[in-house]
Amino acid sequence: MKTKTSEKAAPVVMGIAISHPGKAMWPDADDGKPVTKLDLARYYEAIGDWMLPHIQGRPCSILRAPDGIAGEQFFQRHAMTGSSRLLEAVKIAGDRKPYLQIDRIEALAAIAQSGGLELHPWNCAPGDPDTPGRFVFDLDPAPDLNFDAVTAAARELKARLEKLGLTPFAKTTGGKGLHVVTPLRAGGLDWKAAKAIAREICARMAADSPDKYLVEISKQKRQGRIFLDYLRNDRMATAVAPLSPRARNGAPVSMPLDWSAIKKGLDPSRFTVRTAPALLKKNRPWQDYAKSARPLAGLIKKLNRAGG
Ligand code: ATP
Ligand code: MN
Repeated sequence: MKTKTSEKAAPVVMGIAISHPGKAMWPDADDGKPVTKLDLARYYEAIGDWMLPHIQGRPCSILRAPDGIAGEQFFQRHAMTGSSRLLEAVKIAGDRKPYLQIDRIEALAAIAQSGGLELHPWNCAPGDPDTPGRFVFDLDPAPDLNFDAVTAAARELKARLEKLGLTPFAKTTGGKGLHVVTPLRAGGLDWKAAKAIAREICARMAADSPDKYLVEISKQKRQGRIFLDYLRNDRMATAVAPLSPRARNGAPVSMPLDWSAIKKGLDPSRFTVRTAPALLKKNRPWQDYAKSARPLAGLIKKLNRAGG
């Protein structure tokens, strides 16, 4: 006579069996309860359709922490033997080893299964590493600065980008700053030009308010100011994906928001693996993202016309 096995089968998310589903990846999602590996897989399932267009077709590094944020962490860029077959391995000119790429939602469950907590894609056009696909401006405040100064900086940058004909979007980073993202339409200009334009936009903003902003990476010089980091705008540079969780206390995520939310009193720690899915459904941020791509060509002329 056959005996029934008492072992529970591993839960399955998007076709992927999640082993150790109860393992705490974050000890506390700021609500007294841990975020388990199964919670993480279900989080990716809940937000995957929204996130995918922002990562698809681009190499994507993954911050892995197989034993949760308290354990060992490593940043994985390349496909490895043992990587799930749901992840793409893409060849990039200049590197012998293929890069990881996420082209389908099921891959996110495989990433949860392997302890992948953060997703950091390139900012190129999908399928085209040499063409800039978006600007990401990373506002990095000095540690003593109030977050209201960061929202004010984002709004000022928004106005400057709009003046140049670009359409900016904002997200929290899940950390201490904000990211301002503008989708770009392919058209002639390469990363060298894109980076120079991004630097120029930030340099002018800093020149106009040197007491508030700087474009130098130096943490010593930052005191009381915000570093306008234009360095994400390069061929191999990454920025955390919208809705990516962060391997930090409280299980925060990089939350896409509409500009109406970028105001005094914004508390980025509200947006967590636990809270983000419902907020995303309710607020439906970044609705016009896909139709807001603008060409880079012409920007240099506009910057010149705007003057020093
Ligand atoms: P914050 O608001 O706290 O500054 P952030 O995402 O802007 O959040 P970091 O986590 O410091 O800042 O990351 C800075 C950049 O470096 C990110 O764009 C990210 O893609 C990249 N990055 C993060 N971790 C690593 C790493 N271990 N190795 C290489 N690049 C990384
Ligand atoms: Mn930052």
